[in-house]
Amino acid sequence: MNTTFSCVGCGKCCNDHHVPLTLPEARMWAADGGQVIVLVEAFLSNGLGLPVQQREHAERRSTLVRSADADAYVAITFAAYNVGPCRNLDEDNLCRIYERRPLVCRIYPMEINPHIPLNPVIKECPPESWEKGPELIVGGELVDRELAELIQRSRQSDRDDIQMKDAVCALLGIRTTALKGDGFTAYLPDMVEFAAIIDDLAGQTLPQWGSEWLFHVSGDDVAEQVMASGAQVAMGTPENYSFISLRVA
Ligand code: SF4
Ligand code: SF4
Repeated sequence: MNTTFSCVGCGKCCNDHHVPLTLPEARMWAADGGQVIVLVEAFLSNGLGLPVQQREHAERRSTLVRSADADAYVAITFAAYNVGPCRNLDEDNLCRIYERRPLVCRIYPMEINPHIPLNPVIKECPPESWEKGPELIVGGELVDRELAELIQRSRQSDRDDIQMKDAVCALLGIRTTALKGDGFTAYLPDMVEFAAIIDDLAGQTLPQWGSEWLFHVSGDDVAEQVMASGAQVAMGTPENYSFISLRVA
């Protein structure tokens, strides 16, 4: 079935959505006085934590790290920390930085992950936005070439930025990840420090960050699987992060 779409400007996608940012966008967000949340997830090289069909996409946006005796692929997302309305949303539901709004704001409601098909039911856009407007998906294919190009740019940024993000995380002391599918570890770094680290690293040849990663998991059963894979599990209460569990109750 084909999908039509036209944004009705309801502003819902600008509320309570942590908007993934490219590295330059994250630096811009900090310069504007905003808060960036760092979300981390990883899968193990033996495939633990990874749906098989997503391996190529997930590997390409990750960096290979060590955790005890295991290799792991860590994916790091810098996102605008939007609890409630985005700081750039005005009283008329218009974006104050529309001309320089982040890439992902331009892409919504489309998905970035090629393995996740667009599902209008789970999107914030109200029913009327799907009832009119130009065709978006025809025969399963995205027909808006400009939008397709933005999605490719976003995916490429994920790949291009990952080493730098890993370096920024190393210098911020971020070295605990969640297992992909089990949750995320979430950090709210000091933005002055965050910006200074990005500026210091800019243009440098990045060294190998040899530091070890730990896994924070949702329960003993997952911990057993992670340890059986040779990786190390974080013990005790998180000090500089929170754990967002994806575990189904
Ligand atoms: S930057 Fe603009 S478009 Fe993006 S979430 Fe904020 S208000 Fe919405
Ligand atoms: S939720 Fe959908 S319809 Fe509403 S402003 Fe965002 S993109 Fe437009």
